[in-house]
Amino acid sequence: MKGKTFKFFLFAIFSIVLLNNITLLKSMEMVDEPEKGRLEVICGSMFSGKTEELLRRLKRAIIAKQKVLLIKPATDTRAKNVISHDKNEMIAITIDNKPANLKELLKKINNDNIKVIGIDEIQFFNEIIICFINMLIQIGKRVIVTGLDMSFKAEPFGIMPKLLTIADEVTKLKAICVECGNDAYVTQRLVNGKPANYEDKLVLIGSQEEGYYPRCRNCYRMDRKPFPKLWEQWEKTE
Ligand SMILES: [Zn+2]
Repeated sequence: MKGKTFKFFLFAIFSIVLLNNITLLKSMEMVDEPEKGRLEVICGSMFSGKTEELLRRLKRAIIAKQKVLLIKPATDTRAKNVISHDKNEMIAITIDNKPANLKELLKKINNDNIKVIGIDEIQFFNEIIICFINMLIQIGKRVIVTGLDMSFKAEPFGIMPKLLTIADEVTKLKAICVECGNDAYVTQRLVNGKPANYEDKLVLIGSQEEGYYPRCRNCYRMDRKPFPKLWEQWEKTE
């Protein structure tokens, strides 16, 4: 009987020590958990200086001795580096939408202790990039992305609305309307010198002579209003 009581006593002591240790470990984990990062979205029409602003923020981070990584979508084949219209330049890596590649990059960012991640032309990525950005924020990174907020149809471009709503900070930049000099609102697409039609593809691939020009609301031309389905509803009602 005495032996049993002693064993129970030992077991109780052991349990208390174990529980204390677990609590201690958990509280240490809490202390070790990194502070969360943030998402900054720089949006606007083409030629509004989005990339310029991204490079400016990254350069400031470099001056602050923070490790920086610049990423661009694999679909953007214009140049290996990210170059703004002002000829500012920074070395960039390209990445596609494949989760396996994004996970590998995440590991690299963590191992290399990179603090600030810039992503240019984010509108060309699909929704999976949101998971990647979220993971970066969870491990304390500052993420700065640039993206075209509207297509040439003056409608939201791809994943941009989602990113704008989850951002900590949104900067909407404006280009100058090439027609009248006012603040531009949207990017006008011209095909063979004429305003593109609403039904045209979002991203043109081919030999057509196309150009993109920032324009204000007054100078923007389109054969249909944006959101035609909504207008159908609107017009049905007397
Ligand atoms: Zn104008």
